[in-house]
Amino acid sequence: MTFTCSVAKCRNAKRAAENNNDLTFHRFPVKNKTLCQVWVTRCQRKDKINVKNARVCSDHFVHTDYERDLQNELLGLPQKKILKPEAVPRKMNLKSDTGEQNVSTRATRMNERARKDLVQILLQNEETSDDPVKIGK
Ligand SMILES: [Zn+2]
Repeated sequence: MTFTCSVAKCRNAKRAAENNNDLTFHRFPVKNKTLCQVWVTRCQRKDKINVKNARVCSDHFVHTDYERDLQNELLGLPQKKILKPEAVPRKMNLKSDTGEQNVSTRATRMNERARKDLVQILLQNEETSDDPVKIGK
């Protein structure tokens, strides 16, 4: 049996026998209809998804979407990838939807603020200096 990812833009597929890479395929949360609908919407498919057989691959989830496999973690064994009950696929546009742009914008803003603070500190030092240096004549 071959699993194919249900996400429209994703071409990931794998045979059940191939367990030698990190890619895993997750069943739709069929017991929770609302959540299941969110999964279907996220897949952005034009055709209908048969949620009973469909799978979404692990490329669309982030690390925090998975339960911690404490037993294997302690034993140093490979982690079982078990999704948290409320997890939804979130990385749908694999090439650009990485959140990198947001991070860099935030970093730029922080740099700007840090520079302003530095200017403020320099100005304050100048004002409170006990031995002002006279500039000019
Ligand atoms: Zn996929």
